[in-house]
Amino acid sequence: MNNKLNLLPIVFVLLITACSSESEPETQVAAEETEEALITRALEIHDRVLTFDSHADTPLRMIEPGFDMSQRHDPKETGSKVDYPRMKEGGLDAIFFAAFVAQDIRDDEGNSRAKKLGLQMLDAVIESTEKNSDIVGLALTPEDAYKLEDEGKRAIFLAIENGYPIGNDISNIELYYDKGVRYITLVHSTNNDLADSATDSKGPEHQGISKFGEKVVAEMNRLGIMVDVSHGSEEVFYDAIAVSKAPIIASHSNARAVTEHDRNMSDAMLKLMAKNGGVVQLTMLADYLRKAPENPERTAAIKEFRANLKPTSEMTDEERKAARAAYAELAKKFPAAPATVQHVVDHIDHIVKVAGINHVGIGCDFDGGGGIEGIFDASEVMNITIELVKRGYTEEQIEKIWSGNLMRVFREVQDIATEIQAASV
Ligand SMILES: [Zn+2]
Repeated sequence: MNNKLNLLPIVFVLLITACSSESEPETQVAAEETEEALITRALEIHDRVLTFDSHADTPLRMIEPGFDMSQRHDPKETGSKVDYPRMKEGGLDAIFFAAFVAQDIRDDEGNSRAKKLGLQMLDAVIESTEKNSDIVGLALTPEDAYKLEDEGKRAIFLAIENGYPIGNDISNIELYYDKGVRYITLVHSTNNDLADSATDSKGPEHQGISKFGEKVVAEMNRLGIMVDVSHGSEEVFYDAIAVSKAPIIASHSNARAVTEHDRNMSDAMLKLMAKNGGVVQLTMLADYLRKAPENPERTAAIKEFRANLKPTSEMTDEERKAARAAYAELAKKFPAAPATVQHVVDHIDHIVKVAGINHVGIGCDFDGGGGIEGIFDASEVMNITIELVKRGYTEEQIEKIWSGNLMRVFREVQDIATEIQAASV
């Protein structure tokens, strides 16, 4: 830890048990752990456990010309949420960098463009880990992360967000696996050839996972790639549980009973996730964390801003900068009620209550919209641990939340792939 820690203010609670009875001469004053002692204890726990963020869209940044992951970026000025120095500051040991390809036209040309862009992002991550091998390493297995942690390095895992770059060619999945991809989010904000999205305004197209999507899941099972249902419709979740031979993950989703949102998971889904042995990774997206009071002016302004925006992948550097500045201006003009670390741990508390301590983790979605007050970027993730300690979570439980649960699923997915491959010989 260093002195750049940006800690949340913690209300200092001094518990005084004073005996008011006159018959008792002694006044007993018992002080609970002080704020300072609690933070110190929380930071020690944060340092000891492997901290693993299952979702960041940082590869989008990494393909920007001149973007250097070894340099610290000012999040307010650049909009960037993750780089290697800030991972170190926040005590973040491991991360899944997802190559995100926005859904576009579903024809041969669109598919091959998506594949090209996906590969460009995966290669950018690989190249960055090679260039910075003194501070990070590309990780392919859970064991790699622990080994890199021992060496004092950050573990960088690869994923793909949106199955679009698979196109209609199953063999692409092995190509991505060989690059290092260890989970694929089946679908994004609109339906694709694999599955229905939770948020497509046109409604469902396949009533869950398509026939082709089922083949994709089977191939992922065979190779040892985790099936990620975040962004998928509810039917996609139930289909994935039914079709996948291995437990599944939701790499960045929250609890619907706490915050009503199509991207969040109902209690029934959380219970089934527990039965499946999978894991739900909590995300730092304000709208999934709390219901903001109605603000029609802000909503209209954002809608107008988005309508006039072209896809980030098609923007020039200048256009990207201008878009960021325009959004920052808009957010300043129409501020939203903040989401905080308390909201995050409210969701964790709920999932633990419904699904148990073994089925919850953390996937911040930095550089993909994630980042809230107190957990604005990778340098502030220790505030989650502090809030967990405040609410009485033990080190063993915190270890499960920060990585143990995801690693259990990861290992199981790999073991099942080994079994499938052995059975087919
Ligand atoms: Zn996402």
